[in-house]
Amino acid sequence: RSKSAGRNCFTIYDEAMSAELEARNTLEGDLRDAIARCQLEVHYQPFFDVTSTERRGFEALVRWRHPARGLIRPDQFIPLAEETGLIVPLGEWVLRRACEDAAAWPSGERVAVNLSPVQFKEAELFDVICAALEDSGLPPERLEIEITESVLLERGVENLAFMERLKSIGVELALDDFGTGYSSLSYLTAFPFDRIKIDKSFIRSLTLRPHSAAIISSIVTLARGLDMSVTAEGVETQEQFDRLKTLGVNFAQGYLLGRPQPIAQIGPEMAAVRARLDAA
Ligand code: C2E
Ligand code: MG
Ligand code: MG
Ligand code: MG
Repeated sequence: RSKSAGRNCFTIYDEAMSAELEARNTLEGDLRDAIARCQLEVHYQPFFDVTSTERRGFEALVRWRHPARGLIRPDQFIPLAEETGLIVPLGEWVLRRACEDAAAWPSGERVAVNLSPVQFKEAELFDVICAALEDSGLPPERLEIEITESVLLERGVENLAFMERLKSIGVELALDDFGTGYSSLSYLTAFPFDRIKIDKSFIRSLTLRPHSAAIISSIVTLARGLDMSVTAEGVETQEQFDRLKTLGVNFAQGYLLGRPQPIAQIGPEMAAVRARLDAA
């Protein structure tokens, strides 16, 4: 009896596995098509100088407009894209799109692009970034690259050299989701970051747990000592914004200040420029 139950369990497990595998294969095929058929979109979320409340630029965030499933957020396809290597063409597409869009902004504001650790393993990444800048005409000083701590753990030496090359042409570097990874604070001193982005989990607990304010405060102190600035991500309430300002955070980003929006909605002025370019 227990044997047959065991076998049944195995069968069910097996079927569930193959269903999952099938769904994954479908998604992978769809994603491959999506890149070819231009179903990907870049949305832009503004970030602001906390002291002057001036807008300083936008972060580029990819979305997939799936014909049947609607708008899909990156958390649902970036991991698959990373496993299959599709992140390389996808990431290059996002980078080029973001540089082209930003080059047309009349305000001279910056654009921040997220890069996957998988893209970092590609020897051509530096040339890809240079080509995106050259082809779009975006000055390198207006491009910011966001990377997560995992990039520092693997291949630290190679990545350090790559980051220094980027800095030498004027591109800025931000450490994303700070506080969620495994890297020690010493990593911060070893890599040439311009900015640290404090993960939104710390911002969320800021007004709930006293420890969060202490953590943010020490990140600000550390960043100052290293000549880096600090961005708070996921700012949703005025109360959070006010606390962050008191704590000395330099930049803020979050739903309170603006959600990620398609290019056509981030400002009539910018959209007008884009439309002129598209018509030309
Ligand atoms: P991230 O780079 O840390 O981006 C911030 C995420 O927080 C975005 O989610 C943004 O929509 C969300 N967010 C912004 N403000 C708030 C807020 O006030 N409250 C809350 N709850 N969330 C807020 P999104 O767009 O879903 O992107 C998720 C992640 O996917 C990004 O996290 C980034 O790691 C990755 N990603 C997005 N676009 C790309 C891309 O082009 N390439 C790569 N490699 N990764 C990307
Ligand atoms: Mg980011
Ligand atoms: Mg982040
Ligand atoms: Mg994140």
